Amino acid sequence: MDDPVIDNLTHILDRIASACKASGRPADSVKLLLATKTVPADRIKTALLAGQTLIGENKVQEIRDKYEVLQSIPHQTHYIGHLQTNKIKDVLKYNVSCIQSLDRIDLAEKLEQRLALEGRHMDVFIQVNTSFEDSKFGVAPEEALNLIRQVALCEHLHIKGLMTIGLFSADNEQVRKCFRLLKGIQLQINSENIAGVEMTDLSMGMSGDLEIAIQEGATIVRVGTAIFGQRIYPDSYYWNEGQDSQQVS
Ligand SMILES: *Cc1c(COP(=O)(O)O)cnc(C)c1O
Repeated sequence: MDDPVIDNLTHILDRIASACKASGRPADSVKLLLATKTVPADRIKTALLAGQTLIGENKVQEIRDKYEVLQSIPHQTHYIGHLQTNKIKDVLKYNVSCIQSLDRIDLAEKLEQRLALEGRHMDVFIQVNTSFEDSKFGVAPEEALNLIRQVALCEHLHIKGLMTIGLFSADNEQVRKCFRLLKGIQLQINSENIAGVEMTDLSMGMSGDLEIAIQEGATIVRVGTAIFGQRIYPDSYYWNEGQDSQQVS
């Protein structure tokens, strides 16, 4: 059977282009990140060979498992999953160029320590919980500025943007509120002129809501299902895991 990845990719790129056009934005103002959790390396390879350059993984284990097959094809990997502090050392082994899910100070401090030790730097996005759901990771919107001020003091971390997962809802206006909130936080942070903080990227929008996210200013959309098909694991497996330990910390 033909791999539908190529057709799906074409369709997603069309959706992104149409959404940009409808919002009066240049077509190249939105970058596609392939959300590749559970997707086997050879199917990711198909997408990379078709010209894609950015993937996002949720688990260090998966990055490790796919590393060898993918390393011959130039691309960037962003970490988009919940990151436990005991996985920091591992995630730094695999050429991850940005951690989009930085959402708490203890993680930032431990990351900073490790990067300093290795003499390296890392781009990060601050993940914000714009839907106010307990099941989602991310710093509370009202805590974002405070966290960013603290992360800005970490010399080896470079804050490049914000990331969020919108509310899962058929009510588009409720979804839109999440994205608008993230954009508002970006504007607020930029108006503070915090040294070392360059809030250019807004990573928001997925298979079901990328048009709304683009209307509200997304610069990166993260798409999995619409390209690679349904996953067998529920997303709660990726998004709620470790929640208990997070509440303790
Ligand atoms: C899985 C995932 C996506 C992609 O979601 P789809 O609905 O499959 O497009 C985006 N962002 C994060 C953080 C994810 O875990």
